[in-house]
Amino acid sequence: MISQQVRSGSEFPNAEAMDIADPLASFRDRFHFPEIEGDQRPLYFTGNSLGLMPKKAREYVEQELDDWSRLAVEGHLHARNPWLPYHEFLTEPMARLVGALPSETVVMNALTVNLHLMMVSFYRPTLERYKIVIEKGAFPSDQYAVDSQIKWHKGDRNWLVELTPREGESTLRTEDVVDKIDREGESIALIMLGGVNYYTGQAFDMAAITAKGREKGCVVGFDCAHAAGNLALRLHDWDVDFAVWCSYKYLNGGPGAVAGAFVHERHLHAFELPRFAGWWGNNKQTRFLMGPEFDCLPGAEGWQLSNPPILQMAALRASLEIFDEATMSALRGKSVKLTGYLESLIDGIGDDRIEVITPRDPAQRGCQLSIRVRGGDRSLHQKLSERGVVSDWREPDVIRVAPTPLYNSFNDVHRFSVILKECLA
Ligand SMILES: *Cc1c(COP(=O)(O)O)cnc(C)c1O
Repeated sequence: MISQQVRSGSEFPNAEAMDIADPLASFRDRFHFPEIEGDQRPLYFTGNSLGLMPKKAREYVEQELDDWSRLAVEGHLHARNPWLPYHEFLTEPMARLVGALPSETVVMNALTVNLHLMMVSFYRPTLERYKIVIEKGAFPSDQYAVDSQIKWHKGDRNWLVELTPREGESTLRTEDVVDKIDREGESIALIMLGGVNYYTGQAFDMAAITAKGREKGCVVGFDCAHAAGNLALRLHDWDVDFAVWCSYKYLNGGPGAVAGAFVHERHLHAFELPRFAGWWGNNKQTRFLMGPEFDCLPGAEGWQLSNPPILQMAALRASLEIFDEATMSALRGKSVKLTGYLESLIDGIGDDRIEVITPRDPAQRGCQLSIRVRGGDRSLHQKLSERGVVSDWREPDVIRVAPTPLYNSFNDVHRFSVILKECLA
């Protein structure tokens, strides 16, 4: 029984009614939930960290294991899904998911690797134009990647422009970001922001930032680790130069899943760009002639280095099929409601020890809400865990809760709010 003692938001009917009316509700059954004591399912809100396993993933991975055992090297050509072109099976579904052309999209490597590969080509500092703009408090891997690229070009900390919220505010204002680019644009080589900030859950206005950056002659890239599978991205239309993302968060591709990269159409034949090359980026017709000269593939595929990890890709295929069936626009529609419902229930608790720092405007966030706990008290997170809530704690004082539209229900969100209220009491 769900107690209704938490006031639900006025514009929301009750959770059961919303679940019954939800056309995406049955997708939940396509996933394995982790086991907790008893036969209860946990309230799983960490799809922003590691998405749940699609049940089909096992079958898809087993098929490749099976073909490997039966065919060995012949599997490159004769597996049921031949391994040689295997990455191509993922290209179109991934392109649809991020709003890109297939030629602009490639599934390869891991996220930070792809970020470096993109910066090798697209961060080309000159005497006048050398700065990189990132958001202060960007995910550490991105900070390290950007710092090390600057060092590689013999630059220093002054080359880094970190965007900080106004005094007393937790998130950036688009107008301030745009204004900064407007004022310092001539010296900015690269703008590299998270599509959605992992800590605050803020979604940046990628279209507006890209438009201003490009107007000023800057290259604009986004790390979409927290945006892919969360927002309805339109990377091509927004005119973004490049983007990278991982597939183990909202994309449910499994631990260490193979990542994605986007390069805008206008760069697909830019063979003069410096790039770190490998044989998988070579012309497919001549790759196995094993010649000494690199003959670069056009398109995002030309940035590939190595022959890809088939077992990982098999798991990711299972997940991308689900996204194709559900469609990103329908998922985003549900997500706005689900997170809006969560926000209204948290407001309804009315406890001033907690504060949602994620923007209130649904257009400026994905599914995640970041709850600041005053005094940085980790014990609240601990109590939530003991009650079967899987969320995460980020130093110094934030609990991140990410209800995902594929496998979280309105009931999950409601139960969470009841437990949160009880833990605060
Ligand atoms: C999750 C995440 C990473 C992790 O990088 P890996 O190379 O996949 O380990 C990097 N950057 C951002 C913004 C992330 O959210």
